[in-house]
Amino acid sequence: MKRLLKNAWILTMDDQYTEIRNGWITVENGRISALGEGLEPSDADEVTDCCGGLLLPGFVNTHCHASMIPFRTMGDDCPDRLRRFLFPLEQEAWTEALSYLGAKYAAAEMLLSGITTAADMYYFEDRVADAFAEMGLRAFPGETVICQRAPGSDVPEEALRRSRELLEKWSGNEWIHPIIAPHGTTTVTPEILQACQYLAEKYSTLLTLHACEMDYEMRYFREKGMTPISYLDSLGLCGPHLLAVHCIHLSPEDIARMADRGAHISTCPGSNTKAGKGVAPIRDVDASGIAFGFGTDGPSSGNTLNLFDQMRLFAVSQKTVCRDRSLFPARKIVRIATRGGAEALGMTDAGQIRIGFRADLTLVSLDGPSMFPVYNPYSALVYGAGASDVSLVMTGGEIRVRNGQLTAVCLKDLREELESVMPSFRNAAKKYADII
Ligand SMILES: [Zn+2]
Repeated sequence: MKRLLKNAWILTMDDQYTEIRNGWITVENGRISALGEGLEPSDADEVTDCCGGLLLPGFVNTHCHASMIPFRTMGDDCPDRLRRFLFPLEQEAWTEALSYLGAKYAAAEMLLSGITTAADMYYFEDRVADAFAEMGLRAFPGETVICQRAPGSDVPEEALRRSRELLEKWSGNEWIHPIIAPHGTTTVTPEILQACQYLAEKYSTLLTLHACEMDYEMRYFREKGMTPISYLDSLGLCGPHLLAVHCIHLSPEDIARMADRGAHISTCPGSNTKAGKGVAPIRDVDASGIAFGFGTDGPSSGNTLNLFDQMRLFAVSQKTVCRDRSLFPARKIVRIATRGGAEALGMTDAGQIRIGFRADLTLVSLDGPSMFPVYNPYSALVYGAGASDVSLVMTGGEIRVRNGQLTAVCLKDLREELESVMPSFRNAAKKYADII
């Protein structure tokens, strides 16, 4: 089947930021087969008029805990909520059904906001992978490995076993690329971190973990005369497999070391700033050449699963901290949200509108009230657009969202399904009512 998208303002996100004002593309076998300007081919099986909207590579979410939808708005203003109620509530009340149905709902929310690929870490990720595959979201799921009792795994060895099974099950799959996901630098022992690294190398996949995020984490390593990054490096983890998340408190030496080792970063400006944790030194990360992308973090930490919020929060926080309006121009920020994310995940055939690349595409309408006039399309995306402006989303050449609506499922149904497995979770949450 040959699909044609015509009458689009194409932002290719190539090295020259090439734009095609009256552009068209054709899609065959899940990939972009041709693109051009003006008169379009007439032999397509299906034609979609983009009505002059902005057609760009799909957004790439480099860090999420998608299933955590049931936690959304719980204790948003509670200090140290991870240890005060998130961990205990997960241990007591989290279930496989919540992981699966939470991930389905989250996948719908991501697709509706133009995200076409997501990296994820949580529990029961085999079911999360099923949910993403069913929804048509390209994904990099990783079972959280943590050295405490956790949903589905009483001991970290159990989570490692789940990780191996996930890797074996989806080996060679087009849509699901399992990764290794130790929780963080202080929540996993050095031995288990090295076991994770062994798996990442054996299966040639990413190892993602939270790093340089928490004050207590930084204090812990400072007392040892180290940083989280120098510690990871001493264990052999700071290398091309590493996708370090948050990286708020990186030193200049950490940045140089990560650049030298070919490590990758996911920055989550929404979650970092909401928690008051600080603003990551991304100007220096960018100058170092480290591949990095944006992460929404989970719906409990970042609340919304869309990259429009991340783009804008990134812009305002970086410019404010560095007191430099010219820092990170809008087109650079759109690049980070699309191609940058793909590079951070090691994808070599996504993140640009280019012949042969995956047809993972997002169309942003210019009909919304804040999308007029548009002199600079990148500015419109970063400072004016929101998830509700997304009108069409394609992954692997299949249309998942059309006219701002999911094509295969109904969001209301997904919400009802998730709600039906939430009563015992809600009940268990009652004991934390004073802090949430
Ligand atoms: Zn996280």
